[in-house]
Amino acid sequence: MTDSAEDESLDVPIVCEVCETTTRVPLSDLATALKRHNETRHDGEDVASVDPAIKDELARLAAEDLDLL
Ligand SMILES: [Zn+2]
Repeated sequence: MTDSAEDESLDVPIVCEVCETTTRVPLSDLATALKRHNETRHDGEDVASVDPAIKDELARLAAEDLDLL
C-alpha cells in the first residue's frame, strides 16, 4: 500500500476456469484475491490464475513484487 497506488491503479483480470468467472482486482490486491478465491472456493487448490493474455505485461510491471508468474 503506497501513496501512488491510486495513480497507477491497474485492474488485473483473474480467470477461474472452474467457476467460469473473470474477476478484476487491483494489482495491489492480486495475490490476496487469488489466494482468497482458491482457498474459499477450491480448498486451497491453485485453480484461479491471472489472465494469460496479460501475464507478459504484468511480468514487466510487477514481476518483482509478485511470486505468481
Ligand atoms: Zn474458482
